[in-house]
Amino acid sequence: MQPKDTTGNEAFKGFTNTACPFHPCHAGVKREFNCLFCYCPLIAYECPGPYRLYTDRNGLTRKDCSACTLPHDGYQQSWNFIQKWLEYPVPWKGGAQTEPPTARPRPPSGVSVPAPEVRRG
Ligand code: SF4
Repeated sequence: MQPKDTTGNEAFKGFTNTACPFHPCHAGVKREFNCLFCYCPLIAYECPGPYRLYTDRNGLTRKDCSACTLPHDGYQQSWNFIQKWLEYPVPWKGGAQTEPPTARPRPPSGVSVPAPEVRRG
């Protein structure tokens, strides 16, 4: 098995489960529908998605992500989106989405970021 940084096969970045009874669960997806992030990894973190707030039966404020297509719109695009936002995850503070939407967190000052590895064919 090749490390994912060296393989040219990108099939791990997404799939579409057309047999799912909820498919398509989000309207407005224009590219391949990516089901890989069915449970969005950003649910507990700050994110740029158009979520709304609701209160669950235990009185907890939660995100309603019904209107968000970011983790689903295109295998490559949604994969890249999730990877970038998980680089410096910031726990969600429970607030509503802002306008403009939350900006992607950057590394704390003084932290150097290694240059991305260049894949050679
Ligand atoms: S709004 Fe979108 S990006 Fe944010 S947690 Fe929900 S599904 Fe993920």
